[in-house]
Amino acid sequence: MKYILALDQGTTSCRSIIFNEYFEMISMAQEEFTQIYPHPTWVEHDGEEILRTQIKTLKDVIKRSGIDVSEISSIGITNQRESTIVWDRETGCPVYNSIVWQCRRTADYCDELEEKGYSEYIKNTTGLTIDAYFSATKIKWILENVPGAKALAKEGRLAFGTMDSWLIYNLSGKKDHITDYTNASRTMLYDINNLCWDEKLLEIMDIPASMMPTVVSSSGELSYLDESILGRSIPITGIAGDQQSALFGQGCVTYGDVKNTYGTGCFLLANTLDEKIDSKCGLVSTLACKDDGSVCYALEGSVFIAGALIQWLRDEMGLIHSAAESEYYANLVDGSDGVYIVPAFSGLGAPHWDMRAKAIITGLSRGSNKNHLIRASLEAIAFQLNDLLTALREDLGENIAVLKADGGACANDLLMQLTADIAAITVDRPKNIESTALGAAMLAAIGCGMYNSVSDMPSRVTDKKFYAGYSPEKRETLLKGWNEAVKMCRSHE
Ligand code: ADP
Repeated sequence: MKYILALDQGTTSCRSIIFNEYFEMISMAQEEFTQIYPHPTWVEHDGEEILRTQIKTLKDVIKRSGIDVSEISSIGITNQRESTIVWDRETGCPVYNSIVWQCRRTADYCDELEEKGYSEYIKNTTGLTIDAYFSATKIKWILENVPGAKALAKEGRLAFGTMDSWLIYNLSGKKDHITDYTNASRTMLYDINNLCWDEKLLEIMDIPASMMPTVVSSSGELSYLDESILGRSIPITGIAGDQQSALFGQGCVTYGDVKNTYGTGCFLLANTLDEKIDSKCGLVSTLACKDDGSVCYALEGSVFIAGALIQWLRDEMGLIHSAAESEYYANLVDGSDGVYIVPAFSGLGAPHWDMRAKAIITGLSRGSNKNHLIRASLEAIAFQLNDLLTALREDLGENIAVLKADGGACANDLLMQLTADIAAITVDRPKNIESTALGAAMLAAIGCGMYNSVSDMPSRVTDKKFYAGYSPEKRETLLKGWNEAVKMCRSHE
């Protein structure tokens, strides 16, 4: 038996998972790391801590599994996307903490880019809507705010990377400075038409091209784990940003295949293969993987607050003790009785893109109780997802019948059923909901020659399907209420 090691560098934790050649999970190690909030809307991570944590889980999982290092054929890496780290090539040390994807510190500069009329150019070149979420403005912030950084960058001493680059630089014994297409496409500096860094955007943001990693395929002989780490060199043959990795892990490699990851936020992606679709409805275009791991396009919509709303009910409101309890209370009522919650805690993402919208609760009556609020929260996740699916259906010009679900919150059956009802779609939940790590392992398996493509691999197994049950009238009434609530929370800039 041969094994594959998947490294999943997430937003709150690092995980290492060993899969066998049938993609069965053999062993897992996970460890959280510190979230740093220097200001209310700023989020940072310590790059050195992430590296230490990732290496610790890597060593732990091998110990736990009892597998000999020589039995590991290859390594796949998947990571939180967009989060930005800049390091000095001479010392190998970061010049600043990693600025996390959630961080809003560059929102004003994004407004400036928009005012200067760059929206269309950026959309056409990178596929993205200007937002503080993506890496470009975070790199600019570091160069402008860390003393001496700009001068070092101009001398060619500084390197930029997303977490995949940072990990591989260190895991390869500081030999390789690379990233893959899927991660590059989230920087707002990468030309997804011509597959190269865009010189004009680098110039606009005053970022030296020498900082940028070499962009490689998501699958192939990409780098090597230095033998100092496990006593043996192991090829790194798969890399993908977490959402594209989950898309691949769900086997979404046919045109129009759609998955949603229900985590802190919701991330909906549809594979569009060779077709780069210019969304008219607030989605972004990004790079993803085809059946054989080669590069292709996808449409993406992200909602910032989904599972995080359930955490808020637990931690700030004290209405539940655990996220899983939300299902129990929401099931005690058969509807939310006109209550709507729009969780715009950090503005609204796709398809509305309103950085300054504020969260609201509407439709309260004297009879509204805790159960209604909890149910309205689960419904809010489903409504947001429906907004993304409506945009996607319009952009693709076709109906989407099936949504493949994964992520922590997809364990909630009621949430899956509400998605099916509200979005009029069949929700298909797989047995293995660890799609993100699975995708990285699948890419690595192709990269090391174990398989040629997803079609050759053991097929994905469905755990449960949820079918749409609302009448068109009921759905329409509910959507009307939701749309009114969204209108009320908009900033009307
Ligand atoms: P991430 O990778 O974004 O950290 P996970 O995929 O681990 O997130 O999912 C965790 C999120 O899912 C949390 O925000 C949590 O509130 C939510 N969650 C987990 N289990 C449930 C559940 N049974 N019902 C509703 N939400 C849940």
